[in-house]
Amino acid sequence: MRIGLQARYFVAMVLALAIVVAAFASVWYQQRQNQREIASLSRGSMHEVAVAGLRSRGATLVSMIADALTNPLYYFDLVSVGEIVQSALSQPDVSYVIVFDADGRIVHDGSRDIPSFGQEMTDAQAPEAAAAATIHTQMTEEVVDVAHPIRIGQEKLGGVRIGLSMEAPRHAEAMAQAILDERIAVTVARNRTWLIVVFAALLAMGLALSLLVRRGLVQPVRRLADAAQSVEAGRFELRLESTRSDELGDLFRAFQRMGDSLKRHDRDIRQIAYGDSLTGLPNRLAFREILDRKLLTLQAGGGELALLFVDLDDFKRVNDTLGHDAGDHVLGQFALRLQHCLRLIDDENAVVARFGGDEFVAMFGGQRVRDAAAHLAEAMLAELQSPVSIEQRQVFLGASVGITLFPQDAHSSALLLKNGDIAMYQAKVAGKNCYRFYSKAMDQAVERRVQLEGDLRGAWARGELSLSYQPIFELESGRLLGAEALMRWQHPELGVIPPSVFVDVAEQTGLIEDIGRLVLQRACNEALRWKRLGDAPFVSVNVSPRQLRSGDLAEMVGSLLAETGLPPERLHLELTETAVLGDELQTGAVLSRLRSMGVKIWLDDFGTGFSGLSHLRRVPVDGVKIDRSFIADMLRDPDDLALTSAIIAMAHSLGITVVGEGVENEGQFAVLRERGCDLAQGYWLGRPMSASELARRLVA
Ligand code: C2E
Ligand code: MG
Ligand code: MG
Repeated sequence: MRIGLQARYFVAMVLALAIVVAAFASVWYQQRQNQREIASLSRGSMHEVAVAGLRSRGATLVSMIADALTNPLYYFDLVSVGEIVQSALSQPDVSYVIVFDADGRIVHDGSRDIPSFGQEMTDAQAPEAAAAATIHTQMTEEVVDVAHPIRIGQEKLGGVRIGLSMEAPRHAEAMAQAILDERIAVTVARNRTWLIVVFAALLAMGLALSLLVRRGLVQPVRRLADAAQSVEAGRFELRLESTRSDELGDLFRAFQRMGDSLKRHDRDIRQIAYGDSLTGLPNRLAFREILDRKLLTLQAGGGELALLFVDLDDFKRVNDTLGHDAGDHVLGQFALRLQHCLRLIDDENAVVARFGGDEFVAMFGGQRVRDAAAHLAEAMLAELQSPVSIEQRQVFLGASVGITLFPQDAHSSALLLKNGDIAMYQAKVAGKNCYRFYSKAMDQAVERRVQLEGDLRGAWARGELSLSYQPIFELESGRLLGAEALMRWQHPELGVIPPSVFVDVAEQTGLIEDIGRLVLQRACNEALRWKRLGDAPFVSVNVSPRQLRSGDLAEMVGSLLAETGLPPERLHLELTETAVLGDELQTGAVLSRLRSMGVKIWLDDFGTGFSGLSHLRRVPVDGVKIDRSFIADMLRDPDDLALTSAIIAMAHSLGITVVGEGVENEGQFAVLRERGCDLAQGYWLGRPMSASELARRLVA
């Protein structure tokens, strides 16, 4: 149990009051004791004074009576004795007067017939009184008995006793006592009132003090504690204004300032931690928090949520060919476009965040969000497709969008993020520039990919990888001049896996460096066996970007040529435009070395990048292979035809060979020949075949 400040003060106050009360009670008790003592003392002394007065009066009276009685008693004049006794008895306080003879017998007692005459005095005081030689006083409850002998000369005639009643002094004493008691009672009452007043004042003072402590100390401290607690919980909206001019006021103001500055720091830190500096969008961390919060409310209240993972297609090419500033510009533009698209959505809390690189994630909620998500994805794809202009150049990019829905696909944010990623990846696999909804089957696809990676590792050693060769013809003469080596994977369970599926995996895992060398070696060896009348046929081998960047491509090719004995001019290397143009300085040096050996360099899939024709001047290549997408559309799309023609003309002006890829019909073949294209390959001319089959074709 916690004992608060106020409780402590209260307990201290109650204790202090209890001590004061105890002190008062003891003083009170002492005083009462004193008063009682005084009362009893004064009662005693009053009694003594009264008795002393009575005794002296008795002595005086008895002396006078004894003097007056001397003669009458000597002459035994009972009448005179009677008169004197009568006169003494007439005094109000005299109870009795007894005159007795020398033997202690009663001579007179003031009565008319004196019935006790001659009798002995029988009361308790009589013996002492009869024997007294001088004045003798005896006391009883009722009377003061004073005796006096009566003498003539030495002869004792008898004596006289008078009894003075105690009644009067007792009465006076009672009166005085009553007055004293009354006085004491008044004092007691006054003291009591005084005590009560002082106690009440103390109590009031204590209460006022506690109120003061409560208002002046406890409440402010409590407010400060509450404020500290809310700061601790991340709420910096403090309201601690105070008009007090004391230390607590200073503390309040200091606390308020501290809260304000914490709030500013918090905002700054949040901006740094939760914002993407390039696009100004929230980052992954911020998005994750928003998503978690959103999921909490949705789980409680119902509703749906859609997450759209947008990844720009081939963004790396922009960075590689145009530089990082251009890349940043493109990302900024795309961020704006995505935000623009989000306005189509009927959810004011819709957000888009940059997850890093070229990956953006949008989120919105509502009812039946599936259709809205599809519309949004379409809008995004359309918006992102329009070109971005950089340095008077039009850059065309697309995007792949993966969509996952709550609660259909998953309930936790981690799973939703994972699903979105998977769906986006599937959109890429499906050919890019499209959107895909997440489905459970996709999980299997991802699993398959992981499986594929594992299987690919030992595939060459197990003899599952082989090379097919697609013949390449001279258009002009229709002669078979050489062949492109194309890798094939005969998977023991899955059957033939196309290179479009596994080359990517090999590239990403780095396996391509080993496999690529083995492919080159085998292609060289197999090409050696090809014989033909006239000039010997060439073999064209695909080289992946990773192999080019590994740095030792030229040495490797050199040593392979030396090892196999294939003349360098019979080896062609196919490199993609992006791989070559990514780092022109470095790749330029590698390519120059290869060319100086006599190896020919071809740019594969030409036209799909955006290096532009003018770039061709800067890289040392021997030929370009026009991508088959242009050839495929050439007859239908005048733009493609124009581009193909332009590539051919441009290449020729630079003295570069042009190869048309993917010729599937005679029409395409005819157009290429008409436009002056040098070489061609395609299903219509010849499908990929085994090395020995190609050897037979060459001889035929
Ligand atoms: P690529 O270098 O552009 O190879 C040409 C592709 O077009 C081959 O597909 C070929 O079979 C296909 N093709 C040829 N004629 C036609 C046609 O008339 N119509 C159609 N639709 N397609 C045609 P393939 O063998 O599936 O290879 C795909 C890609 O895989 C290659 O594109 C190349 O980039 C890569 N690749 C293949 N083998 C290797 C390799 O040994 N190393 C590396 N690094 N990449 C390879
Ligand atoms: Mg190729
Ligand atoms: Mg190609």
